[in-house]
Amino acid sequence: MTHKALIGIGSNLGLAAENCEKAISFLNNSESLQVTAHSSLYQSEPVGKKDQPWFVNGAVEVSTSLNPEQLLQHLLNIENQFGRKRKGKWGPRIIDLDILDYDGKIFNSETLTLPHPEMTQRRFVLEPLSEIAGSTIHPLEKKTILDLLKELPQKPLVKKLDAS
Ligand code: AMP
Repeated sequence: MTHKALIGIGSNLGLAAENCEKAISFLNNSESLQVTAHSSLYQSEPVGKKDQPWFVNGAVEVSTSLNPEQLLQHLLNIENQFGRKRKGKWGPRIIDLDILDYDGKIFNSETLTLPHPEMTQRRFVLEPLSEIAGSTIHPLEKKTILDLLKELPQKPLVKKLDAS
């Protein structure tokens, strides 16, 4: 059986936009998973810890046979392939992959919370996500991604990355 998941992508170390694109192709090369849609990439002002480079963020929709815990493990494996070292919650990162939503499921374990608990507060998540899943209903808020985005303040800034 296939499932639909929404994944948030972020990077602010090295060539951040290339890292995001590489992460999308790693995802798409997985046997158990296919990327079915992806957003544009955005530049976003750091949240929390300000003295670090701006982030590049995007979102993808995937179709997968993996269950949520397997999908999380798969994302962590991809992060490890980038040689990611964890430097605190708000610190710089070469790549960050989060499960934002999985079949609209509400789920909580020691390692995984669905939907992603901070997505509703983050313009850098909702802005790209609204491109590919604007009418998706958040399972807890019972509002669409577009409506949640409209409720957020403009700052910290999120700008579409120039395609040229
Ligand atoms: P971070 O790298 O700071 O985003 O934190 C990653 C850790 O958050 C992972 O090791 C997961 O165990 C945990 N986590 C909890 N819920 C989620 C989720 N929905 N998506 C990704 N990671 C999650």
